[in-house]
Amino acid sequence: MTMKRILTGDRPTGKLHLGHYVGSLRNRIKLQDEYECFFIIADLHTLTTKPEKTGELKENIHQMVLDYLSVGIDPQKATIYIQSQIPEVTELAIIFGNLTTVPRLERMPTLKDVMRDAEIQIPSYGLLGYPVLQAADILMVKGDLVPVGKDQQSHIEVTREIARDFNRTYAPVFPEPDVLVGEVPTLPGTDGASKMSKSKGNVINLSDSAEEVEKKVMSMYTDPTRIKATDPGHVEGNPVFVYLDAFGKESDQAQIAEYKKLYTTGQVGDIEVKKYLVKVLNNFLDPIRKKRAEYEAQPGLMEKVLKGGTEKARKEAQKTLVEVKQAMKLDYFG
Ligand code: ATP
Ligand code: MG
Repeated sequence: MTMKRILTGDRPTGKLHLGHYVGSLRNRIKLQDEYECFFIIADLHTLTTKPEKTGELKENIHQMVLDYLSVGIDPQKATIYIQSQIPEVTELAIIFGNLTTVPRLERMPTLKDVMRDAEIQIPSYGLLGYPVLQAADILMVKGDLVPVGKDQQSHIEVTREIARDFNRTYAPVFPEPDVLVGEVPTLPGTDGASKMSKSKGNVINLSDSAEEVEKKVMSMYTDPTRIKATDPGHVEGNPVFVYLDAFGKESDQAQIAEYKKLYTTGQVGDIEVKKYLVKVLNNFLDPIRKKRAEYEAQPGLMEKVLKGGTEKARKEAQKTLVEVKQAMKLDYFG
């Protein structure tokens, strides 16, 4: 029996952070033995909000692959590839553009959020079409499962609709992929914003040093209603506790429960809990840092992973496109 496939990826707009880990990376690592994994580095998607920043992409891609490997994605198992090097993806996106409507895309909840964050007044054709290109990314490799953060759920719904519509209109070529949202669907930012996000600068990166983590945690947002340590505090929605829950090990659970009790009854100060969080996060990040240093010391590794991955993904893309053109009767020359 052939293995089912995972397709997911990230925009190379900066370093990966804790939000990426809980939203998507954790599931990728967990499932990499059960599924055939394709991880797309979606550089074309960065054009939708930062068309002028293409000069940064190469370095960002390098760092992102290091992020992948350092959290435990196995380059022997996963196919890691660069979107823009697979022209078949854009060809498929053009075809898919006819299987959804403009109002459908205008209604995407992410569109409003992205426009606000990137200070875009009027969306470009490319930004509006983001979910269409994403459908091409996913269906090009016939992805069955898409592990992503909650913000991406509505996009995958568009992919499913496009797959259904294509299969009905032409021939059953595509699977209808399922979405898999992480255990923490959206990790809040260090500033208390509802989403930790590269573009908001409210992140703790997977590659941050122990000192950087300490600095960021000690100045992070907690419970705005609490002025003194003796005021009863709130645990729900408080990013300090959200991070403790997300990154605490089994052996930290009793202490976390104790801090929650003390916090809600005004018996512990923010500083003490934050110091504990620094410890928990650095315990979580230490093995990641170690692995990163090991991979960094192997010259040419990133290039090898990316080149091999892109070649493999392109073969899949070409195969799919042949099927697509046959189904659509666009295979004029046989
Ligand atoms: P940008 O601000 O450039 O959009 P981002 O931080 O939102 O960057 P993306 O590359 O857009 O990161 O997202 C990659 C993947 O990580 C997606 O599956 C997304 O849902 C997930 N993700 C990003 N931020 C979070 C978060 N704070 N919590 C959970 N999942 C997240
Ligand atoms: Mg995003």
